[in-house]
Amino acid sequence: MLDSRATEAMYRIELAELKYKALNTEPIAAVDWTKESACRGMEKQIFYGETRADVEEAKKVCPRCIVRLYCLKEAIVNNEEFGVWGGLEQKDLRTIRKIEPLGPNDSTYLLSLSY
Ligand code: SF4
Repeated sequence: MLDSRATEAMYRIELAELKYKALNTEPIAAVDWTKESACRGMEKQIFYGETRADVEEAKKVCPRCIVRLYCLKEAIVNNEEFGVWGGLEQKDLRTIRKIEPLGPNDSTYLLSLSY
């Protein structure tokens, strides 16, 4: 069983890798990526809701969304302070904005995989 420090470290590594992927997604020129989103047509209140139930409901949709990384990139670069973006709720988005992205060319990447 992982202790809380190890769990926190793994959480931050996961977010750092996700940030790397999101920031390195190719821009979709002249294409409205929101038209491809899994949440298209759904009630916006779910994604901007303030209750735990809304947040959990929104986070169930994002894993099957093909534009998840674009969505997450938007939230990171535009400092979105409300709602669920790219499958992350605001507490995760606040963390991901602060940490360095972690990708295959980073020297710490392999170390992180063996944690
Ligand atoms: S990842 Fe973004 S665009 Fe996709 S379903 Fe979630 S909130 Fe909607």
